Amino acid sequence: MKNKTGHDRSITRTWRPATQAVRGGTLRSEFGETSEAMFLTSGYSYDVAETAAARFRGDDAGMTYSRLQNPTVAMLEERLCLMEGAEACRAQASGMAAMTATLLAQLSAGDHMVAARALFGSCRWLADSLLPRLGVEVTVIDGRDLGAWERAIRKDTKVCFLETPANPTLEIIDIPGVAERAHAVGARLVVDNAFATPILQRPLDMGADVVAYSATKMMDGQGRVLAGAVLGDEAFINDVLLPFQRNTGPILSPFNAWVVLKSLETLSLRVHHQSANALKVASFLDTRLPRLLYPGLTSHPQHDLAMQQMTAGGTIMALFFDDRPQAHAFLDALELIDISNNIGDSRTLCTHPASTTHYGISEEARADMGITEGMLRMSIGLEDPEDLIEDLDPALRTVGL
Ligand SMILES: *Cc1c(COP(=O)(O)O)cnc(C)c1O
Repeated sequence: MKNKTGHDRSITRTWRPATQAVRGGTLRSEFGETSEAMFLTSGYSYDVAETAAARFRGDDAGMTYSRLQNPTVAMLEERLCLMEGAEACRAQASGMAAMTATLLAQLSAGDHMVAARALFGSCRWLADSLLPRLGVEVTVIDGRDLGAWERAIRKDTKVCFLETPANPTLEIIDIPGVAERAHAVGARLVVDNAFATPILQRPLDMGADVVAYSATKMMDGQGRVLAGAVLGDEAFINDVLLPFQRNTGPILSPFNAWVVLKSLETLSLRVHHQSANALKVASFLDTRLPRLLYPGLTSHPQHDLAMQQMTAGGTIMALFFDDRPQAHAFLDALELIDISNNIGDSRTLCTHPASTTHYGISEEARADMGITEGMLRMSIGLEDPEDLIEDLDPALRTVGL
């Protein structure tokens, strides 16, 4: 049976993941192109006036306007659905557009949300500033502690929001444990899965209701475009998210959708290879730094939970130096690895969160999240890990380690 965008799911649903990554969601035009076409069009024309009327009535599945539907964006959405095992997906203009739309689409003044404290800086801003300003009460807790979820969740809790592994502190949160507690009061669990990607972790299979992504990170994987996506069941995506998105407009451009769509073909290869590189680099750093956090190493306090939920440790680690001057001196001594606040690139990138990505949140909130002045976050790329180690080793010696 074909869905609204012309995809025949009875065939594609049975494909194995590697096949879905390459072929899932492909729509061919009359020219039979092998590589997916980029439809840079804002509108669509109709053979006769009645076709336009039928499309607006919803009796004809064709497209009407690219804020509502676009073939290239639809291909990306369908491929993401197949890779995530979700019923429905809407692509978004960026990761933050995805998080904002997900929360604003379902929360109203007077509602209550519980959020884990360890969130991406702008996600913390949504929880600490935007939602309270709009009359949504937010309780921020230590997401690692299931007892804290239990105490914070109330009868009027509508949403539980978390990120695991968290950016940049790499805290791991028990997805099934939180899902069970959220569902006990009828709340939805929303998981920001940017760090793990569907290759390493599938939150919907563990009880989450909605998965939201920054596709800017591993999904594009080459540091080119901003993009985002929200996935869930058809009732949430079509009846809750879509009215908000269609009328407010945080949609993904067809060009950016095409870039991410093509990148999904190699997502599994990149995530697995970069995770293997990260494990090598983390094993080296663990012997030299006073403290390192990488979910794939047994030295991570939640290593066992991380390995229950993810199939590898991921591409990101946190390095702890004594203070900001030592962390900055280490960054400045790197020659191959770039100082950059992005993550999920094929290039290895390292940043000082307290002065960059998490600069905008209060010092108190930073301390509460475990973001110290001496902490660095490093995203491992596709370079040869030996070259990375040969860059890190002299930089460590420069700062006396
Ligand atoms: C980067 C990131 C975001 C925001 O995504 P953008 O694409 O930059 O808007 C949200 N959550 C996490 C965990 C991220 O790493």
